[in-house]
Amino acid sequence: MINSIEQLKEKLKLTEEELSWKESPQSLPVLITDYYFSLLDPKDPNDALRRQCVPTSAENREESLESSDPLAEVEHSPSKRFIHRYKNRIALLTTDICAQYCRHCFRRRFTGNFCGPLTEEDLKECCSYLEKHTEVKEILLTGGDVLTLSDSAIYHIVSSLREASPRLVIRICTRMVAVQPQRITDSLISVFKSFPEAPFYLMTQFNHVRELTDEAVKAVGKFIDAGIPAMNQSVLLRGVNDNADDLEELCNALVFNRIKPYYLFQGDLVTGTGTFRVPLERGLEIEKQLRERLSGLAMPLYAADLPDGGGKVPLCGSYIEGKDENGWIFRTLDGQKRIYPDPQI
Ligand SMILES: *Cc1c(COP(=O)(O)O)cnc(C)c1O
Ligand code: SF4
Repeated sequence: MINSIEQLKEKLKLTEEELSWKESPQSLPVLITDYYFSLLDPKDPNDALRRQCVPTSAENREESLESSDPLAEVEHSPSKRFIHRYKNRIALLTTDICAQYCRHCFRRRFTGNFCGPLTEEDLKECCSYLEKHTEVKEILLTGGDVLTLSDSAIYHIVSSLREASPRLVIRICTRMVAVQPQRITDSLISVFKSFPEAPFYLMTQFNHVRELTDEAVKAVGKFIDAGIPAMNQSVLLRGVNDNADDLEELCNALVFNRIKPYYLFQGDLVTGTGTFRVPLERGLEIEKQLRERLSGLAMPLYAADLPDGGGKVPLCGSYIEGKDENGWIFRTLDGQKRIYPDPQI
């Protein structure tokens, strides 16, 4: 595990930009697993994996309209440990710790602040909220990374939540399979297997096909073999995956390994992440190219989480050009016109 610039300096020839990163109370700590480091190409300063884990001075820059909490998560938090942004689902911040810190992390106001796992009191608060708010049908176990918690802590959280709301759909949101697949032990899987009735979903974050190693695939496979479907949420990241070729390769490899590409996120306006955001026009162009090349199964939904807590909206060009007396005018993927009339009876 690498947790300082000094250690990095011994292992990599750091660039000016990397050397001039300044640590501050607002910055995200440096933490890279040995496993993930072994996937980096040490000779390439622009390596897609290196960019995701080695900080640069660009993180110290603040752009206009950026904020530490653009999604207004704090405002939508009935308690400090959960966010109720959408009526029927809540996000539980199980811990602020991750196995590795992503330089593009959008929840850095919370992540890596050393506040640690949620307390018994926090959990009780969430459970009584669930008992009162029966409209909540899904819970996202997120953070931080829920799989940094011990097996017994995870068991305790799941069983408490299921007692409070037995029909809850539970999403296990984690980057662990990409940064430390060795964490996915048989005993961890047996924790989830001990709730055979529970509708679990594994939500991974693979951003580049090189993260999908044999070990990572095996780790995800353990969940899938235990009956837990896997869905992937990628972030569109400048200098990492912001081209249709790389994303096409990633999405096809995900589907091949039984992981459904779910979202491709436009970067949020989080302070210090400007270097990762892709201009929207370019993002839309990439989305268009992907739609032409990928199967429906392999195609993720490109989406933005709008500033000031506006929530998630899909981003894609419209294929409806207008309407006339004959019906709706559509543009096909290869640019032809088609008419689709409304029913006449
Ligand atoms: C993204 C998100 C969800 C889940 O949204 P889906 O579109 O259902 O994946 C839930 N709560 C919060 C706070 C979120 O940011
Ligand atoms: S694993 Fe998730 S919460 Fe942790 S640093 Fe990466 S993006 Fe942020």
